[in-house]
Amino acid sequence: MANCETPRSPIVQVAIAVPLHRLFDYLLPLDLSSDGVIEPGIRVRVPFGKHYKTGIVMGLTQTSDIPPERLKAIEQILDTQPLLSDSDFKLLSWASRYYHHPLGEVVATALPVTLRQGKPAVAATEIRYMLSEQGHQVIPEQLSRAPRQQALLARLQATATTLAADTPGADKAALKALLAKGFLCEVSVTPAPVYQPKPALAASAEQQMAIASVSADLGRFSAFLLEGVTGSGKTEVYMQIIADVLQRGLQVLVLLPEITLTPQLEQRFRDRFAVAIVCYHSKLTDSQRLHAWLALRSGDAAILLGTRSALFTPMAKPGLIILDEEHDPSFKQQEGFRFSARDVAIARAKMLDVPVLLGSATPSLESLYNVQRGRYRLLTLSARAGHAVAPQFTLLDIRNKPLDAGLSEPLIALMRSTLAQGQQVLLFLNRRGFAPVLICHGCGWVARCGHCDANLVIHAGERRLRCHHCNSEQRLPDLCPACGSVELHPLGMGTERIEQSLASLFPDQTVVRLDRDTTQRKGALEHYLDKINQGEASIILGTQMLAKGHHFPGVTLVAIVDIDSGLFSIDFHAAEKLAQMIVQVGGRAGRADKPGRVILQTRQPEHPLLTMLLTQGYPAFARLALAERQQAGLPPFSHQALIRAHASHAGPVQQFLHAVAALLRQFDSQVAVLGPVSAPMARRAGQFRFQLLLQSPNRQALHQRLDAVLPAIAQIKAAKTVRWSLDIDPVDLY
Ligand code: ADP
Ligand code: ZN
Ligand code: ZN
Repeated sequence: MANCETPRSPIVQVAIAVPLHRLFDYLLPLDLSSDGVIEPGIRVRVPFGKHYKTGIVMGLTQTSDIPPERLKAIEQILDTQPLLSDSDFKLLSWASRYYHHPLGEVVATALPVTLRQGKPAVAATEIRYMLSEQGHQVIPEQLSRAPRQQALLARLQATATTLAADTPGADKAALKALLAKGFLCEVSVTPAPVYQPKPALAASAEQQMAIASVSADLGRFSAFLLEGVTGSGKTEVYMQIIADVLQRGLQVLVLLPEITLTPQLEQRFRDRFAVAIVCYHSKLTDSQRLHAWLALRSGDAAILLGTRSALFTPMAKPGLIILDEEHDPSFKQQEGFRFSARDVAIARAKMLDVPVLLGSATPSLESLYNVQRGRYRLLTLSARAGHAVAPQFTLLDIRNKPLDAGLSEPLIALMRSTLAQGQQVLLFLNRRGFAPVLICHGCGWVARCGHCDANLVIHAGERRLRCHHCNSEQRLPDLCPACGSVELHPLGMGTERIEQSLASLFPDQTVVRLDRDTTQRKGALEHYLDKINQGEASIILGTQMLAKGHHFPGVTLVAIVDIDSGLFSIDFHAAEKLAQMIVQVGGRAGRADKPGRVILQTRQPEHPLLTMLLTQGYPAFARLALAERQQAGLPPFSHQALIRAHASHAGPVQQFLHAVAALLRQFDSQVAVLGPVSAPMARRAGQFRFQLLLQSPNRQALHQRLDAVLPAIAQIKAAKTVRWSLDIDPVDLY
């Protein structure tokens, strides 16, 4: 018998956002005629288990591991054009491999949430309504049985204007009815605002040098680190380079920490460039984010200002990637797909063959190391821009000194004289709430969280005790639950407590407190920033929210209330983070024409980190810290991966990690397997937490080892009862 082969219909490989390291095979839709073409980058709706999911087509193949009769068909094709291009896929596949994270979840990260949900890939344009040909001719009285429609028609005929569905007075039902009758038609308008761009500032010699270096490399990959002291005009450098990129008709992706991506910064960009600028961050609505994403992808927008999650946005005509405040920990995603936006930005620039510019006053040790070994080119801004001068840092020894809500007398005196000159004061304390501990004077009882190894924090204004790790909370007790004493005392200092004391110390001054508790409400942070910039507030008090990026020209005195609590962390990143915090917070002082002072209250005035930083500055500190890391064989001179696991009982977690460790230790190679040990916070939200650290001087050896054992890890019996995750290049060891 002749072997008559019918051409088999291709099998579609689909990426679906589930925690499995594989693609899923589907047959073509049963009815292809009405749908579009299947090609990589198209979203499809597919049956998955008992439900349907949205996935992205990654490719077509002729064979599948699944027998043909068990393959299901695609339910629906959702796009007519691919949403992601080959170069997007290349990046996402690379990231999936590097972070050992399932491709489906990585691909989902690249999409705004509405596209993940399968909604149409069109930005909601504002629809307005105007009279149709017919609507002009109809006599309103004909609609006398529908008085609202009659009124609306009469109004439109009288004014010859367009209406939006949400125009005040426009009755939605009447609008719809008139539309159905053909008296109205839809028009879509894209508002075209007119910008009058401001001219660039005259760049300093160092700024010019930085601008020229990057601009000379447009059109090819190269990585730059702009190390510019606080207030040196890094943003001005970015903007002048961006102007060159725009001139070539190319686009720019600017990534920033959420906290610095303020309306004020956005305005600075809008004032400068007469192009479409879109933003992408968590405070926007889903449809605003979709709009921004589509606009960059189509080329309608020339600049995207976004946070970490904007990193993967497709670009029609990529020209440059900028990542400001590159040392900022917010560039590392800490859950799910744990990626470093800084590291992926470098990879993306390389793939796109465009320059990438990292900027910071306090560069990460990783980036400085990359400068040392010639991977990044260093650009320096050593002085503040304009007439501003560097702030003067002083250690204030508070040993044996009386404190009023954590403030020493010399500091209070300095605050008084600063305020008397009409200048602003900024106080920094990285602890929100009233006090971190509630203790009983009678019996020593301490308010602990029932779910975490942590104390409950006093929130006096709301009269609550709250856990900052699991958010559980309870009423502030009047009596000690252990002994019934009324003598319950707050211990330690939080921003709320300082705010209270400031009110009695400085009754005539307006205090603005900026922390997570006061800025919850949408628009609150912007409101307070405006208040500060208008000079309506004279004392600004807050947590790390204050540390970054902000430009407060009126602030001349900055005080870090409690530096000591940062000096005793067990994490090897702690010194770097503390130094960055000191320089960044201090950098808010004296940014305009009046010189600034920075006071660090400490009981450790001889601490080597503090004295080194203050006498020689961040660059010297960082280079020394890097040398120390090298001696200790710590990152960036070695590479780490952290496996974390947790469950509601400790036993299975330990069993699991011991089994993982055994798998990893089977091979004798250059990978050290350290642990398992319990996490620094051993119990959190009722979960017992342990971790296993892998470290190797050879990145490839580490990744090969992981590749070899990851499939086996999933097979460990205890893996079913614990939750575990893998963190490549962890920045927090817990
Ligand atoms: P950074 O981002 O380095 O902290 P900014 O870009 O916010 O600093 O600049 C600080 C201030 O200096 C801003 O008010 C900015 O307008 C001003 N500035 C920057 N470059 C110049 C320049 N070349 N001449 C005058 N002022 C400048
Ligand atoms: Zn008691
Ligand atoms: Zn808790």
